[in-house]
Parts: sequence; structure tokens; C-alpha cells
Amino acid sequence: MPRPTDSRVTFNPPHCPNLDCLFHLDSTGWRFKRAGFYRREARPHRIQRYRCSHCHRAFSSQTFSTTYWLRRPDLLAPVFRAEVAGSGHRQIARQFGIVHATVQRLIERLGRHCLLLHEALRKRARIRIAAEPIVMDGLGSFAGGQYWPLELTGLVGANSYYSHDFVITERRRSGSMTDLQKKRRAAYEKRIGRPDSKRLTHDVAELLRTNLPGDTPVELRTDEKSEYRTALKRLRYDAIKHETTHSKVPRTAKNPLFAINAHHMFVRHSGANHKRETVAFSKRIQAVIYRHAIFQIWRNLVKAASERQPIETPAQRIGVTRSPWNVGRVLEKRLFLGRLDLPVRVRASYQGEFTSRFVRCERLHRLRLAT
Ligand SMILES: [Zn+2]
Repeated sequence: MPRPTDSRVTFNPPHCPNLDCLFHLDSTGWRFKRAGFYRREARPHRIQRYRCSHCHRAFSSQTFSTTYWLRRPDLLAPVFRAEVAGSGHRQIARQFGIVHATVQRLIERLGRHCLLLHEALRKRARIRIAAEPIVMDGLGSFAGGQYWPLELTGLVGANSYYSHDFVITERRRSGSMTDLQKKRRAAYEKRIGRPDSKRLTHDVAELLRTNLPGDTPVELRTDEKSEYRTALKRLRYDAIKHETTHSKVPRTAKNPLFAINAHHMFVRHSGANHKRETVAFSKRIQAVIYRHAIFQIWRNLVKAASERQPIETPAQRIGVTRSPWNVGRVLEKRLFLGRLDLPVRVRASYQGEFTSRFVRCERLHRLRLAT
């Protein structure tokens, strides 16, 4: 007898999973046939298979699950929770009795899913973005070692705390260094090159272009970083009212940049890779992107905007969702790359194209059977 959770009882395929099929984007009039079962080791053991009547591609209920092709589907949600609870990947591995590489692969999959989920909600967030001031600032961190700093620039709603987007920029190591450190930096730069100093301006301009409507008046709050001013000049968005605050102003709740300061505090608090003086730092830039995509979804949809009023999430405040989501709901449905319209940078993030100059023979994510 089928169990109540049996995929056969509850599941209805929403569209053809084949990217090239006429019914991939629009399932109106789509027909499919049930085509037996397959057995797997994880529960539920019996998985219903189907066949598209148009393109004849076979698929199953698992094709539409975030756990497709996973040997341990039970680990996806617990690893998500451990990631945003400040655990390092080796700590997560020990907690669940699995190897570190498995955690890494699950985090990559979660990161890709969260990037798509954020994009699926972008349309709703974008129409409401001008309803409140937007705050932008960068968080200093590093990947691969202290010689490879990076800046994580975020864009957050001043009252809702909704994180609209982020971009990661490589920076050159600066600040006080010993003579030996200076020599080492020079040797590294000679061998693998130096990050482009204009990159931050370029990335910030792209971040603003992707997120802010050019014609609606909106207040943008930042500190006095010259790159932000140059980026805004380049954009020529006349409707943007740029308000700056000096970075030495006390970072209290009264500071106009409070939303982004608090956001970055949470990033360090919740992600092991951004803690100061940690050994759990990300070893590749792409990993920073995947992990921050997970954090962003958790911060927007799951975590309450304020600890004092733990009812509303940032997504509720901005009107993107009606109620708080739990991790189960975040991972409820697999999203398909081809069904979403992604900005170029986000597509590159999804496909793992942000390589790290300091990693030799970096393994890239190659799509084979799944997208
Ligand atoms: Zn089809």
C-alpha cells in the first residue's frame, strides 16, 4: 500500500522538465503518462516515473524536488540550518557523520537553489524597492587567505531590512604589513596578477543598475566611499537622491546606515566563513557567493526582521511573502534555470564562473544531467 507521503498520492508534475520541450515554460494543454516506478534506498522508496506525451522525455517526481539525484536527501535541510547557524563545513561534516566534500557539494547545491529562489522573488521585490530608502555598504572579508581580501557589497531596505542583492569584488591587500608580507604580496602578484582597482566601481554600478529603477525617485544611503560616487555618476540616474554618512559616525540604531550595519553584523554572526581570524574562511570566491546566497534567503524569508518583534520577516515587511517561511518551504520545490530571467552576473554566479586566481586547477560546476 502507498504511504500517505508517497509521491504518487500527492504529486502532480507542474511542467515538462525538458528545457527544449514546448511545455517547459507553459504547461497549458500539456499531457504526460505515468510510466511505472523505480526503487531507491532513501524514503519514500517507491518513486513514480512519468513520460511527456510531447517530447517523450522520461522523468519522475524527484525531477521536481530540490533533492534530485541525492543519495542522502535527508541531509539537505539540516545542512542548510547548520550553515546559517555559524558552523564550519568540517564541523557540519562531523555532526552528521559524513565527509567534508559532501557538505561542500550540498552547500553548492543549496547556494544555486537560493540564487534561483531569490531571482524568482525579484519581480515582486523590485516594484516595492522605491517605497523606502535603500542602504548600501561593503563588508571586508577574504577567501583563500589574508593576501586575497574581498568586499561583499550589499543593498538592503532601510526599514524592511530586505536584502535585494549583493556583489563580491576582489581587492588588493592593503593596510599595515611587515616587510616580509610586502615581499610575499609582490611575489604573488608577479605570479598570478593583481586585482583590478577599478573593479569595485564597476561592480557597484552594475549592482545599482540591476536593482534600482532608473526613473522612480529613491533615496540611496551610503558612506563616503569615492567608488560609490563615481558609480552613481556613471549611471546617470537622476531620480536617485544620494545621502552619505561618514563611516566614523557611531553605528547605533540611529545611524542612517543602520540596516546595512546590522545586516553585516548578522553575516559575521551566522556564517563561519566571515568571522574574524577564523580558519573556516572560504577557500574560493565562488564558495563565498553560494554561502551568501543561502544566508540572504534565510535572512529575507525565514529569520525575523527584528528579535524584539519576532513575527515579521523582511520579505513580509516589503510584501514579497505573506508569512514567515521555514527551511522546509524554502526547499519545497526545485526551480529551473531556463524558466527564470537572470541578470548576467547572477547567471554567472549560478554556473560557478567566479574563479579564484589563487586556486590552481579549480573544479568548475559543469551541468550534465541537471541544470
Ligand atoms: Zn516534454
